[in-house]
Amino acid sequence: MKRMFFVIAAAALMSFNLVAQDAASVVDAAAKAMGTAGLQSIQYSGTGTMNQLGQAAQPGGPWPRFRLTKYVASHNYAVPVMRIELVRIDNERPPRGGGAGPFNPQTGQGGIRPIPGDIIQNQTVDARTENGALTLWLTPHGFLKGAAANSATAKVATSRGRRMVSFSAFGKYTVTGTINADNLVEHVETRIDNNFTGDTLVEGDYSDYRDFPSTGPGAGNGVKFPMKIVMKQSGHPTLDLTVAEVTPNSPAAQQVQANPPRGGGPGAGPAAGGPQITADKIADGVWFMTFGAPQTILVEFSDHVVLIEGPTGDERSMATIAEVRRMLPNKPIRYLVNTHHHSDHAGGIRAYVAEGIPIIAHEAQRRYYEQQIFRNPHTLNPDRLARAPKPLLLETVRDRRVLTDGTRSLELHHMRGNFHSDGLLMAYLPAEKILVQADAFAPRPGVPPLPAPSPYTINLVENIDRLKLDVERVVHVHGGSDPIATVRAAAGRTPTE
Ligand SMILES: [Zn+2]
Repeated sequence: MKRMFFVIAAAALMSFNLVAQDAASVVDAAAKAMGTAGLQSIQYSGTGTMNQLGQAAQPGGPWPRFRLTKYVASHNYAVPVMRIELVRIDNERPPRGGGAGPFNPQTGQGGIRPIPGDIIQNQTVDARTENGALTLWLTPHGFLKGAAANSATAKVATSRGRRMVSFSAFGKYTVTGTINADNLVEHVETRIDNNFTGDTLVEGDYSDYRDFPSTGPGAGNGVKFPMKIVMKQSGHPTLDLTVAEVTPNSPAAQQVQANPPRGGGPGAGPAAGGPQITADKIADGVWFMTFGAPQTILVEFSDHVVLIEGPTGDERSMATIAEVRRMLPNKPIRYLVNTHHHSDHAGGIRAYVAEGIPIIAHEAQRRYYEQQIFRNPHTLNPDRLARAPKPLLLETVRDRRVLTDGTRSLELHHMRGNFHSDGLLMAYLPAEKILVQADAFAPRPGVPPLPAPSPYTINLVENIDRLKLDVERVVHVHGGSDPIATVRAAAGRTPTE
C-alpha cells in the first residue's frame, strides 16, 4: 500500500514537472526568437490614440478617445520600472464623454472638454509593486520575463495552433500569453482589481513584428518588437499605438529609475481613521461633504437626508456616511443620488448599497449597473459589498423626479443631449434657486476663456432654459459654486440672453 502510494505520488509529481517543463520550453523558445534574454532595457515610440478609462459617454461603452502626438515608453527590466511620456490632444469634435481631468491652474488645462493644447501625461510605473508588475507583464518581452521568473506556476495549453502560457503571481493573478507559430507573443491578458468594475480584464494585442539590431551584452541576433500595440480594458481600447522607433538596450531606458517611495516619514501617510470629511455649508440644510473633488452634497429634509454623488470608493463613502450620521444622528440617509456612471462620480456607490441605501440614477445607467457594476466579481480585492452582499436598490429617473417632504423640494432633471454622459442628472433646489451640476461646467479661475464655449456648458444652459428653472447659483460637484451669470457667460451668452 505504501509502495503504491509512492508510485502514484511520483507519477503525479512527474506529470506536474512535465507540464512545467513544457511551459518553460515554450517560454524559452519564444524568448530566443524574440531576443528577450539579452534585453536589459528597451525604448520605443510612436503615435496613435489613447482612451480615458472610466469616462465613457455611454454606460459600458468605449472609453473616450484622444490623439497621441507623442508616446515614448522606456522599460528598464533591471529595476524593473517603466516610464511612459505622452502628449495627447483632444481633437474629437464634438467631444463625447469625460477625460478632461481636474482643472490645472499651471497649464490652464482640464476641467472640461474640449481641452485646448497639448496635454502632457508622464508616468513612471514601479514594476516592483503588484500593479506595476502586472503592467510590465502585459508587454511582449515583459510577459516572457514574468513567465520565466514565475516558471514554477507556468502551464501551457494549446488552442487552434497557438500555445497559451499562463502563470500565477502574488497568489491571485493569472497572466496568460498567447504565443504563435513563429514563437512571438501576440496577446497577453490578465484580470486586475478595479474598485468600480471589479475583477477587470486587461489585455494587449501585439502584431507586425520586426527585427531590431541589439548591441547590448549578450544581445544575440537582435530583438523582435511589434509595430502595432492595442491595449484594452473591460473590452474597450485604452491605447492604439503604431510604433515608429525601437531601441533595444537603450541607454536612455537604462537610466529610468523608480520614484522613491512616497512619504515614509512620521505623519507622511494618510490620516489615521481614513479620510477626514468636513462639512461646508452652501445654504441652510445644504452642505458640501468636502474631501477633494468630486464632492458629495448633503441635502437635509425634515426627518431624513439625501446625498448627491458617491465618489471614489469604500473608504470615502464610509467616512462620508459616518460624518452625516454624526452631524444629523436622527436623520437616516434615504437616498444616494448618482449624477452619472463615470468612475470618479460613481466609484463609491457600491458602499452605499452595502449600507442598504437606495441609489437614484438615470434609467440609462440601469443596465450597466445591474449587468456589470453590481454583478462583476470582486474576488481580487473584495470590497464591503463583495464581503457582505446586499441587493441593489436602484430607482431610476427618466426626465424628472421630485423628492419632497412638504418643506423642501429637490428636483432631479435629466440633462437632455449632453455629450459628457448619457443619462446625466442635475439637481435643482427651487426654494434656494440652487442648481447642482456635474461635469457640464468647470470654473477656470484666472485663465482666458476657452477658444469656444464647451458644448457641455452650452447644453447645461439650454437645459436650464428648456426647463425654465429659476437658478441663481450653480453648485459644482467638482467643488465650488458660481452665479448663474458666470455659467451663462461661459456658454457664450450675453447677460440678456
Ligand atoms: Zn463625468
